[in-house]
Amino acid sequence: MSENQKHRIVVAEGLSESGLERLRAAGEVVRLSSCDEASLTAAVREADALLVRTYSQVTAKLIGEAKAKGRLKVIGRAGVGVDNIDLKAALDAGIKVVHTPAASTYAVAELVVGLIVSVQRRFTWMDGQVRLGEFGSLRGGKPRPELQHQTLGIIGMGRIGTAVGRRMHLGMGMRVIYYDIREIGYLPFVAESMDSAEAVYREADVVTLHVPLTKLTRGMINGEALSCFKAGSSLVNASRGPVVEAGPLAAALEEGRLWGAAIDVFDPEPPPADHPLLQASNCILTPHIGARSREGLAAMNDVVDDVVAVLQGKPPQYQALPEVD
Ligand code: NAD
Repeated sequence: MSENQKHRIVVAEGLSESGLERLRAAGEVVRLSSCDEASLTAAVREADALLVRTYSQVTAKLIGEAKAKGRLKVIGRAGVGVDNIDLKAALDAGIKVVHTPAASTYAVAELVVGLIVSVQRRFTWMDGQVRLGEFGSLRGGKPRPELQHQTLGIIGMGRIGTAVGRRMHLGMGMRVIYYDIREIGYLPFVAESMDSAEAVYREADVVTLHVPLTKLTRGMINGEALSCFKAGSSLVNASRGPVVEAGPLAAALEEGRLWGAAIDVFDPEPPPADHPLLQASNCILTPHIGARSREGLAAMNDVVDDVVAVLQGKPPQYQALPEVD
């Protein structure tokens, strides 16, 4: 690239004004009005950098288009999950993928804390019932144990899993058990490691999922896994929609095998009108807002720093690499 040729930076999804300003200082910024396949394909042929969030599908085919033109150097993902980017294809094409792994940790943890309390005490359902005049009837029935007498099961004890476990153990007094495929070192609270995910399902009163979407985790909560869940327990999913098979979960809720569920992420998004969980009883639904705090979004926009670093030939701080098989 010659001295006076500007870097062309394509922004496919939302980015804050301050993030855009920082990019404009490094090159010409082009904003896409859609992140569908056709728009992305046309854009990557002429781009030095591509910035995406959750919904742009950066497939091997798209990366192939970019590679053929030889211009794209970096893909920036504002956020932690990189399941929408083919990391292997990018690595093979010599295109760096950068992201913001820690940006949403506390925002997601805070949402999950609220969802755990809410699903166990049925706040959202009761709200509707009170408005229907059911105040008196809601005060009967068998009371449930307090959270300090319940066990929280965490699948994936990474950044978010740890932040959730810490808050629920130190704040609410829950016993915490967990399963992770890698060995977890020091944790800033007491938690017991289990040998398998099934061992967690059998003992936990609430299971919360904090795994990335990978070949191993896609569909990990299916009918078979749900049959291992303790009777009357609950599931929280603020990881990725495809980690949970919605049909079997809706059936377990309808049959009362599960007490409740709280779901922030869907497959697909937004969920279609006939999505099984839209009709499921005691299922709290939020519209993929885990990362949506003021601080979380601001930190996600810091992906622009690594995008600019790569464009300037410097090493990025947070490069995402493919899983090792
Ligand atoms: P992280 O990499 O710090 O932690 C993920 C953990 O899962 C790791 O410890 C990993 O070893 C473990 N893991 C991977 N595969 C596993 C398996 N098969 N069984 C058990 N454990 C497994 O990631 P994080 O920052 O904690 O984020 C976790 C996920 O949360 C992200 O990948 C993303 O999909 C999701 N997320 C959702 C939102 C939202 O808005 N709801 C926001 C941010 C992140």
